[in-house]
Amino acid sequence: MRITADAPLVHCNTLRLPARAEWCASVGTPAELAEALAFARSRALPVCVLGGGSNVVLRERIPGCVLLMRMQGEDVLEHGDAVVRLRVAAGTCWHDFVLACHARGWYGLENLALIPGTVGAAPVQNIGAYGVELAAFVEEVGAVDRATGERCTFTRADCCFAYRHSIFKGELAERTVITDVTFRLPLDAAVQADYPALRAALDGAADPTPAEVLRAVLAIRRQRLPDPQRLPNVGSFFHNPVLERARFESLRTRHPDVVHWADGERVKLAAAWLVEQAGGKAMREGAARVHERQALVLVNDGDATATEVLELARRIAAAVAARFGVELRIEPAIYG
Ligand code: FAD
Ligand code: NAP
Repeated sequence: MRITADAPLVHCNTLRLPARAEWCASVGTPAELAEALAFARSRALPVCVLGGGSNVVLRERIPGCVLLMRMQGEDVLEHGDAVVRLRVAAGTCWHDFVLACHARGWYGLENLALIPGTVGAAPVQNIGAYGVELAAFVEEVGAVDRATGERCTFTRADCCFAYRHSIFKGELAERTVITDVTFRLPLDAAVQADYPALRAALDGAADPTPAEVLRAVLAIRRQRLPDPQRLPNVGSFFHNPVLERARFESLRTRHPDVVHWADGERVKLAAAWLVEQAGGKAMREGAARVHERQALVLVNDGDATATEVLELARRIAAAVAARFGVELRIEPAIYG
């Protein structure tokens, strides 16, 4: 394995930001991971882990050693009558994995199709879309401690999965490298099709099949979301804020039309609505702007820098705070 100095990362992040890594290693096997971690340890370098770079904002220079996770492969651990259990390497393309499972009659992941990135990053924010979250299918996450190089495993409960969150984004942020994920997938064709946009796309089908759900998800996403290959972006830039009910009711007296959904005892606000109402869609900072159809997505029109993207996000959040008194939190991780 080569560990390269001053490596360009512009093609390693879907916002196409022109970052450079002090050191960079492409990691394809457990032995290469051990070697790269030992290299970082010997020079007391911080370690930054990247999968597909579809949920990060990279500043100009990333200090330390960037690991590009490229481990591939899967092991079927059990093929029973009702479920299949399989362990999948962290560098596997998430969308290809979803399609491959579906083709083999291993169901459940259809709602999560077309999410960019890798299998190893999926548990980090417990990826979710169209009413389904990764957590429902995870049995175990395998990882290596960045400081010691030792292997550790996390059961689903250990992962502390929550809405777009897990222990890997919280308590253990920047402390482990996820090497593999063990999935437990059902073989029956039950689908989750309650999400309003999905139901609408299914055109009232009473009992949709997994294949119909997959087709609908692919169609909605292609229609609604900008393809990062053509228009660089990292998906939703802001989380939907979740408020205590009393605070929400106070907000609603001032803004009766605020778009919201019940979230257990609390209330989730539509961040996209807040951004639109606060004038975010008209905002631009250099080559960074808000996507015309999707107010949560910031796009790079060509030569945007991380400074421009983050300044645009700051101005949007400030406008939302001034108008609604609600804090918007940034979803992608910021490095450098
Ligand atoms: P990266 O961007 O490389 O990394 C993200 C974070 O995970 C970083 O903190 C990184 O250090 C860490 N990380 C990555 N790999 C590992 C590893 N092996 N071990 C430890 N840490 C690691 N997300 C959703 O939840 N739902 C969506 O519907 C969705 N749609 C999207 C649509 C578009 C067009 C885009 C561009 C993004 C979308 N995302 C969505 C966000 C993103 O695709 C997901 O969060 C995805 O899981 C990121 O994967 P990645 O490999 O690109 O991770
Ligand atoms: P969308 O379906 O209109 O969703 C926009 C936002 O509104 C999402 O954050 C979604 O919350 C929320 N929402 C819509 N209907 C909801 C309901 N009935 N109950 C609760 N929340 C509701 O448009 P979209 O932007 O194309 O997103 C489609 C799906 O893909 C969503 O699940 C979204 O989260 C996911 N997505 C995520 C990213 C990302 O980077 N994180 C990027 C693109 C799409 P939820 O997030 O809880 O679904």
